[in-house]
Amino acid sequence: MQNLAIFGSTGSVGQSTLDVVARHSDQFQVYALTAASNVEKLFAQCCEFHPRAAVMAEQSAAEQLQTRLTAKGLNDIAVSSGPAALVDLAQDSNVDSVMSAIVGAAGLLPTLMAVRAAKRVLIANKEPLVMTGDLFMREAKESGAIVLPIDSEHNAVFQCLPADQTQQGVRKIHLTASGGPFRGRPWNELHAITPDEACAHPNWSMGRKISVDSATMMNKGLELIEASALFSLAAADVEILVHPQSIIHSLVEYVDGSFLAQLGAPDMRIPIAHALAWPQRIESGSQVLQLADIARLDFHAPDMDNLPCLRLARRAAEEGKSAPAVLNAANEIAVAAFLDGEIGFTMIPVIVEKTMNDLETIDLSDIDTVLQIDNEARVVARAAINSSRGQDNTPGNT
Ligand code: NAD
Ligand code: MG
Repeated sequence: MQNLAIFGSTGSVGQSTLDVVARHSDQFQVYALTAASNVEKLFAQCCEFHPRAAVMAEQSAAEQLQTRLTAKGLNDIAVSSGPAALVDLAQDSNVDSVMSAIVGAAGLLPTLMAVRAAKRVLIANKEPLVMTGDLFMREAKESGAIVLPIDSEHNAVFQCLPADQTQQGVRKIHLTASGGPFRGRPWNELHAITPDEACAHPNWSMGRKISVDSATMMNKGLELIEASALFSLAAADVEILVHPQSIIHSLVEYVDGSFLAQLGAPDMRIPIAHALAWPQRIESGSQVLQLADIARLDFHAPDMDNLPCLRLARRAAEEGKSAPAVLNAANEIAVAAFLDGEIGFTMIPVIVEKTMNDLETIDLSDIDTVLQIDNEARVVARAAINSSRGQDNTPGNT
């Protein structure tokens, strides 16, 4: 029996994880559930899975949850709140596995603490990997933590690499990209895109931040950086391939000319089930892939001239050091401002580029430096948004 803590259980990945876990209650016990502020959903999950602990980001939300649980007679669920409670939970000796499914940099410390505590860490939360570069995997090597990627592309690469996860014979990896909802449309015609339009992904149903990242293709840029951190690859050895059907989730190219790919329906329960059970296999609940019905798979190279966010991410990946952390922080701030109606869609890369240009790239010697850079980049991005008020949304050629 694996004792599982799900960080971000009310989100898209969190809910898919609970869906898989519910199918295998003989193998997985839900030890803890956590959420930012959605009391209703966390309460419902507590009633269904009866964890030992529940953590909410906000204290007022935790108090409401406690009241609801007490009224229901669920007094044995320990409720706590705040970032420190997440960090404690990550190190709890009762926890075997952690699903890291918080969105954004807020997941960095809990995920890192789980790694330091040598847990089995299933990582969906890509932003911490982008921010920390090779520091994260170095920590995992030192502690002996097992890190299993959940992001579908990285899970596909994990499945296609040699069993010992070395790069023996690997020439390149190819991350596939659906192209998002605006594939093929000229960037400079996307000024008037609304948050709801940006979040309507053709193949995947996801949280709003990653949906916007998919629409700008920043998501693929973050994944490029994530892949080089996870698999110790140079950015130049990570290619992006547009594949609109999202059936091939990524490929590993070997020196002998072999390409190994992982295929599946676009359903996050597949990588989640893979990582939960690894090295065994369990059913995920996903539909069976009918290749004869799909009939054809298409591929083309991304048009980098039309994808400013992907271009900025490639630049950050090549610069390395603190550049990816700056890119990530500026993007988080810009996407939140877009979702709040403060800036237009095409302003996102403008804010990111300005922040990258304003901050010097420095070495990331430790996590404190990462957190400091993250903080500085957020301040610079925020100021760039404030001074952009009234500016035309045209990003020009960023
Ligand atoms: P989501 O917005 O649906 O869920 C995020 C979860 O994190 C929620 O439970 C929320 O309550 C919690 N949360 C948010 N801010 C928090 C904070 N400050 N402190 C504590 N908890 C907080 O997001 P999602 O789509 O499930 O994505 C989660 C992560 O997984 C992201 O990093 C995303 O890039 C990555 N990912 C998601 C998918 C997908 O299909 N959704 C695929 C690959 C990778
Ligand atoms: Mg992905």
